[in-house]
Amino acid sequence: MRVILLFTISLFLGLFSCGSVSKPVEDSLPEVNSLPQEEQEEQVIEDTSSELQSAPYSNGVFVLCYHAFNDNPHDITFPIRVLDRHMETLKNAGFNFITTEDLIEQRYRGLNNVLITSDDGNRSVYRAYHEVFKKYGIKPLIAIYPTIISIDPFALTWEQVAELRKEGCYIASHGYNHLYLNAAAYRSNPSASRREVVESKKLLESKLGFDIDVFVYPYGSRCPEIIKLVEETGYNFAFTIDTDIIYRENQNIKRFELPRYMVTNSNVNRIFELMIKTIND
Ligand SMILES: [Zn+2]
Repeated sequence: MRVILLFTISLFLGLFSCGSVSKPVEDSLPEVNSLPQEEQEEQVIEDTSSELQSAPYSNGVFVLCYHAFNDNPHDITFPIRVLDRHMETLKNAGFNFITTEDLIEQRYRGLNNVLITSDDGNRSVYRAYHEVFKKYGIKPLIAIYPTIISIDPFALTWEQVAELRKEGCYIASHGYNHLYLNAAAYRSNPSASRREVVESKKLLESKLGFDIDVFVYPYGSRCPEIIKLVEETGYNFAFTIDTDIIYRENQNIKRFELPRYMVTNSNVNRIFELMIKTIND
């Protein structure tokens, strides 16, 4: 099993080492794909398994949080071709791409499940869906805040959001103005914090004509008052960026603080190594 695991990770790392934008982490990885299979298996990849906790439950979902997909050199931005390799790597490793509905209705077994999410409503999500996600049958959850839609030139338009929803993507609220919602922010301006939760839902629903029942905390920030308000406002689930797997066994207990892995150029290799190791253990 260990050989298979290392081979899989080697293959994954190799996929990242070619053709991507120049980033120190990726550039330092070996071009293992060009080697014969036997040599690939012998590539010495640092075994980080001692740092990783084994999964406490047997049914779970990795939720990945992406942002934008273009060539801008930013830690949370990936070129479309790199995103394609990410999805190909997960597919080849044996992951199932589940939908938000699958998660909500707990239609998943095992640990090899992944839900793709994208925060902020960057316009590049539209192209990423048509050029990458659709090809893999992926219906991402797209978390948007209404004050930039069809206004900011880098944001999706209402028409694009409606079209993505028709394609099967899940649309969630990501606040009204994308404000921090931690205790300090709530204390200093409770009405602005409330608007993030309550008015974003109303405005998105009036613009789009369907229910918005998932909230995604901007920056993952929240406090007990906000979590309570999210529930009282009629959302059924809320996502953070606390890093963990969502386990079926405790999903409902955590439904207003569901964890996700925020994917950056700095951590993507470590996250994928963890995911692949988890399902091969
Ligand atoms: Zn955000």
